[in-house]
Amino acid sequence: MVRPHVVILGAGCSKAAVPQGDANGMRLPLMDDFLDVVRPVKDALESAGVPIDGKNFEEIYSSLVTAGHSDVQNRVESLIFHYFKALSLPNEPTLYDHLLLSLREKDVVATFNWDPFLIQALKRNPPLSGRAPQFRFLHGNVMVGFCERDAIQGYAGTLCQHCSKPLSRSRLLYPVAEKDYETDTMIAASWKQLHLDLNHAFMVTVFGYGAPASDKAATSLMQEAQGNSIQNQLKLFEIIDVKTREKLLETWDPFIKNYKHNYKIYQDFYCSYIARHPRRTGEAYVDQYLNGTWICDNPVPRELSFTDLWKWTKPLLEAENLADP
Ligand SMILES: [Zn+2]
Repeated sequence: MVRPHVVILGAGCSKAAVPQGDANGMRLPLMDDFLDVVRPVKDALESAGVPIDGKNFEEIYSSLVTAGHSDVQNRVESLIFHYFKALSLPNEPTLYDHLLLSLREKDVVATFNWDPFLIQALKRNPPLSGRAPQFRFLHGNVMVGFCERDAIQGYAGTLCQHCSKPLSRSRLLYPVAEKDYETDTMIAASWKQLHLDLNHAFMVTVFGYGAPASDKAATSLMQEAQGNSIQNQLKLFEIIDVKTREKLLETWDPFIKNYKHNYKIYQDFYCSYIARHPRRTGEAYVDQYLNGTWICDNPVPRELSFTDLWKWTKPLLEAENLADP
């Protein structure tokens, strides 16, 4: 299978990865509890006299932008950047490590998350060197930098490979109702690439992304990228989310109605196709859905240490080398 498995991550994924908080006990927010978790932002809004009662962060931020409170807006943006920059994965293998080791270099991880977990997981797993899936940062990221002149993306704090100037910090795209994905070059390039990825994908997994209704641009871009319904009958759409099935069907109806019965809903990542068929989602999909074969699971062992996890992954990587030298 050369077509990509596209995995789209939202805040619920990072929360599921560190349910008790990061390495230092810092908690991961969802939109609804954002101000209770990212306390410095709440404190700054309160000391500036911004009314926050009964509103979520999305509504408050939009009102700051509309009212032209640029000093408070800049302060809030800076506090958010530093909160997310300080987050760190716990020392033992996490869901992010399992996710990345379970995907291949042809696959794609597109994330709405600002936190550094994806890149921290990439850097600390040597088997992923040259073998990692491709990343798309749909709302910017604290670990990513960009050279606008050369359209080159890399780690924040490093130099552009072309002009040797420091990469500029990724802009974080903040929650306003009408997001414009075209104004920032790096974010626009990620979205354009995701369009192509979705058109080629044999399977799409959306993990913990809970706000499609309020993000009109994101919803319409993803719908547009679905192609025609005949193509979709050959694709599988997976949702991983802790919300109820009824709520998820309602939220994602415009997106999954073209899939007929080819969609699955899981509450737990470790029940998903990725975790049950690590590095072989494409082959398992062909066997199960196109050839009608009864297939066995080969679940990613979630209790292993890093060293044992890499040993477990090694034969899968070696088989890929033989199949595609
Ligand atoms: Zn450059």
